[in-house]
Amino acid sequence: MKVVLAKKAGFCMGVRRAMQLALKAARTGPHPVFTYGPLIHNPQALDLLKSLGVEILKDIPEKGEGTVIIRAHGVPPEEKSRLINAGFKVIDGTCPRVIKVQKIVQRHAEDGYRIIIIGDKDHAEVIGILGHCRGKGIVVSDLRDIRELKDLQKYIIVSQTTQEEETFEFLSQEIVELFPGGQVFNTICNATHNRQAEVRRLAAEAEAIVVVGGKNSANTNRLAMVAREAGCQAYLVETESDIPREELSQFRRVGVTAGASTPNWMINRIVRILEDIRGKGEPFFFRWLRRAIRMAVEINLAVALSAALLGVFAQTALGQDPSLTWAFVAGGYAWVMHTINRLFDLESLKLNDPLRAAFFERHRLCFYLVAALVTGAILSLAFRAGSLPGGLLLTLLLLGSLYGFQALPPPLKHLLGYRALKEVPGGKMFFVALAWAATAAVVPGLTLGPRPSALAGVFVLAALLAYLRGILLEVLEVQGDGFVGKETLPVFLGEEKTLTIARWITGVLMVLGLILPAMGILPPSALAVFAGGIYLLFLIRVFAQRNPGQSFRLEILVEGLIPLTSAISLAIALYL
Ligand code: SF4
Repeated sequence: MKVVLAKKAGFCMGVRRAMQLALKAARTGPHPVFTYGPLIHNPQALDLLKSLGVEILKDIPEKGEGTVIIRAHGVPPEEKSRLINAGFKVIDGTCPRVIKVQKIVQRHAEDGYRIIIIGDKDHAEVIGILGHCRGKGIVVSDLRDIRELKDLQKYIIVSQTTQEEETFEFLSQEIVELFPGGQVFNTICNATHNRQAEVRRLAAEAEAIVVVGGKNSANTNRLAMVAREAGCQAYLVETESDIPREELSQFRRVGVTAGASTPNWMINRIVRILEDIRGKGEPFFFRWLRRAIRMAVEINLAVALSAALLGVFAQTALGQDPSLTWAFVAGGYAWVMHTINRLFDLESLKLNDPLRAAFFERHRLCFYLVAALVTGAILSLAFRAGSLPGGLLLTLLLLGSLYGFQALPPPLKHLLGYRALKEVPGGKMFFVALAWAATAAVVPGLTLGPRPSALAGVFVLAALLAYLRGILLEVLEVQGDGFVGKETLPVFLGEEKTLTIARWITGVLMVLGLILPAMGILPPSALAVFAGGIYLLFLIRVFAQRNPGQSFRLEILVEGLIPLTSAISLAIALYL
């Protein structure tokens, strides 16, 4: 069925930030690590935090040790002081937008204003804001509360950040009419506003809306309510077992949104299942085609194709006729390494793409058998070409297999501070890119004898292409990787900085793509990386605006990078 995703779905900025702080604290300590109250209203994410040793602190003890993370809702200042005085290291995860409201009320309370907070009396954020009002705050939830207001002269009105726009407008107008002269601060967070506005838009174009999120989450329930008020059938889905498959199969087009505390992997999981349901009148062929593409990506054929075509690009950029044998060696190497590492590291895949993880687990033996056959085939091809390419490929296979093992000798461990290559922060894609470039350019280069400067140039271009492909794919898996403690570049630096780095590296790639052919170091076919760079800039832009649940489509787009560059380099070589 056709699934239309809301652009603003899943973790909002504040929740994402608090979650990152909690994950970092789980890794670095001091331990034990607590969140003061549940970090988010999502049982699956809370279970995962618990499995990482992050417990929930309900009451503040007299004495404590370890780390406490204050959640995005914030707390009254006295509670923060009590946590510090009890002996905890306190990490303040209060959302910057909530801090802004706290500062507004605090400043006005100090200037003698009364503070009206429009919101839910029992909500943690409202309790926190009230704590910053120096005893001058009053919470208003409905008209009854307004009737109890007396003698308001110098006052301001603020709102809970997740308040509904209409309710805030209505209640604040009522108050100002009764007590003229009050200043109104609309402090509703635009994340909430945009999300609700988008659900209304989605309701107009879809026949039904699926809201993914915790059943106890207020903002998730509110999204379902907004969809129903807009006249659309709405289903609240916490896990895949809640999906009403029969009912949904009556629709052609279903919209999907998610509450601010819903993790990406849950949205991905639900979207995948929804896309698999045969919608009303959906042609069988499209469903079959989608499944075939998905299968190719899932069993790493897309990875193998990318690596094989990187080999084609490398040979073309070296001014040689592409050889199918070396393309097979490069593709086979990438497939074996990728598959083996997936099989050894199913934990993060279970979070990012649980259905794919289940597929790998089910066919584990089969994957190992095929990996052994492919390894034998590519090694025999490389050794038949010569002992140098064969020896290099064997070394790369051994290094790739040892990537996840604590295999570095103690002196190196002492020097670097790591026992395994995979522990080097942000290092995974760096090593993968070097290995891909080596199999694509250097292994065949050892038999074909290109100039060293040309070989070095092609090696760098191939490594940059492979690196950029890799870090974009890592951005898609950032939440799952973060939960299992993988130090990928996006986990280490954050998505935004990773995309900025990707932009800079793309710039370097494009400049090299122009300079190396202009200097005569490489033939004109190397200009293809300039076109690849333009495609990369487009991809990075799409990534910066992406929404969760799009991971699979974006993965296909990323896997298009190397085939596109390779096709352009072949076309230039043929034309010239
Ligand atoms: S909804 Fe807005 S204010 Fe609340 S945590 Fe998210 S970003 Fe912050």
